[in-house]
Amino acid sequence: MLYPSKINKIGNIRPQYHQHRSLWLLATIGLGLFLGLFSPGAMAGDRGNTFLLIMDPPMQPTATWGWELLKRSQRMEAVVENLRASFALPQSVTIHFSNEEGPLYDPGRMEIVLPYRFMADVALHLSGRPPSEGDHKLQTDTLDVVEWVVYHELAHAFIHLYDLPVLGREEDAADALATFLVIELVEDGGHIALTAADLLARLAPHQHQDPFWSEHTLDQQRFSQVVCWVYGSDTTQFAPLAKSGTIPRHRAQRCPDAFMSMAEGWWRLLDRFIKSA
Ligand SMILES: [Zn+2]
Repeated sequence: MLYPSKINKIGNIRPQYHQHRSLWLLATIGLGLFLGLFSPGAMAGDRGNTFLLIMDPPMQPTATWGWELLKRSQRMEAVVENLRASFALPQSVTIHFSNEEGPLYDPGRMEIVLPYRFMADVALHLSGRPPSEGDHKLQTDTLDVVEWVVYHELAHAFIHLYDLPVLGREEDAADALATFLVIELVEDGGHIALTAADLLARLAPHQHQDPFWSEHTLDQQRFSQVVCWVYGSDTTQFAPLAKSGTIPRHRAQRCPDAFMSMAEGWWRLLDRFIKSA
């Protein structure tokens, strides 16, 4: 099954945040001047640095399922293409699907490592049985979760490479940045974030020993925040989340502002690393 075409939405969406509140615009200009004066210089281009994709040959039968799904869907090629078009990098970053442990971001190797076993785990938790051929919904949902996790690990990479300030827990910042990136970069990215939030929230009651699960505290609050941002990003498209009570009514009212300030914050920090269209 072909992955729906990805559209680089950066540039189309940016102005709309800044039309709302002139205070934010002033803050943005002020911070931009500050960063321009005191940083080593805005990044004019990527100087040959880029996003790379490696898919190791699978070493176990469970790995073969994930490897074949990735190859067939071309999903990660689309992610890499999108990132290359959007962000200038001070060093190359590799997205590496492997038979190793993960998912994780390895700052020493500038690598995001995702094990095929993680994909099989996700499919098992989504469907309650080992993955098989032909289940298209399971395949799409698994790819959605994997893509969001790639953006989550990429968020750690960006925080490290771009030296972004983080207030509070880095995990929460990485969730926010992952949700921001998927919504901004990917057509229908909100659904990807929702699929991931739904699965990860369901896993919260039974934490796992694997590195990703043990490093990433799974709590309901963490993922209800992702759902709130997604709803806040488009209250029309995601109206059923509020109507069904998935987001309590008193909270739903605050989600648009929560998304707006989260997105404006990341735009301010990432602006100088974004390639012009
Ligand atoms: Zn993390």
